[in-house]
Amino acid sequence: MVRIISIFLSLFMALTTLSYGQNQYDKVEIKTIPVGEGIYMLQGAGGNIGISTGDDGVFMIDDQFSPLTPKILSAISKISDKPIKFMINTHWHYDHTGGNENLGKKGVVIVAHDNVYKRLSTDQFIVAFKKAVPATPKDGLPVVSFNDQVTFHMNGLHIKAYHVKNAHTDGDSIIIFKDKNIIHTGDIFFNGFYPFIDTSSGGSIYGMIEVAASLLTQVDDNTKIIPGHGPLANKQDLQNFHDMLVRVVETITPLTKKGLSLEEATKRDPLKYLNEEWGDGFLNPNAFLSTIYQTIADHK
Ligand SMILES: [Zn+2]
Repeated sequence: MVRIISIFLSLFMALTTLSYGQNQYDKVEIKTIPVGEGIYMLQGAGGNIGISTGDDGVFMIDDQFSPLTPKILSAISKISDKPIKFMINTHWHYDHTGGNENLGKKGVVIVAHDNVYKRLSTDQFIVAFKKAVPATPKDGLPVVSFNDQVTFHMNGLHIKAYHVKNAHTDGDSIIIFKDKNIIHTGDIFFNGFYPFIDTSSGGSIYGMIEVAASLLTQVDDNTKIIPGHGPLANKQDLQNFHDMLVRVVETITPLTKKGLSLEEATKRDPLKYLNEEWGDGFLNPNAFLSTIYQTIADHK
């Protein structure tokens, strides 16, 4: 019973991390971290924002929560006096798309993968958090969507967004500033803690591992990586994240093969050896286990 309560509590904590109360928004400060080449990472609450500045205007990646839009716009105005031309969503989750409607109303062109458009334009339910998410009003929907990849040519950069299948969700995109060695991964990478994997939106830990492994072949020791959550990262951080996910699968697979239920597996505290390093961030260990267990059990 205690275990069940603790699983419930950890999911509750994850939920509150994803959806702040108004008071908490008031306290949020937007931090602007220069990445190089006129590119910045903005941290506030929710997913990390990527910004490219230059003569052609502002290119933006994700927009956190709706109440933060004024603070985010104020932070952007300190690094560019140009208008925001495009905003691309790395996936549909509301801690990355909450500002869409505010930006759409200002004439910003919103771009995302086809599945982001599908999910934002219809009511959603995130099973892990038991959270219903209503459809986004028209002004907040992407006006351009793509099925595979798209490249923006502005500010002297070639900014390529490409879709990766079934990782954090079914609509994830990675954004690469080509020739500049800078990447925004969206939520396929949580730097320093267990990730949330939204299986009810088509996510899978196996997809997360695959994407991280493939990204590792594309980066070098000088690559600057803006993760979906957590501090600015480098190749080693991504390698550590990938290796952790691999160890998680290796550790949990034998338990599912023995036919243990989630509750029985949780009692064994199988991720104990990883928790100190990875378990005090976005999701606590039990919540993380509960979100990946069935995927591993179902994996043939
Ligand atoms: Zn997410």
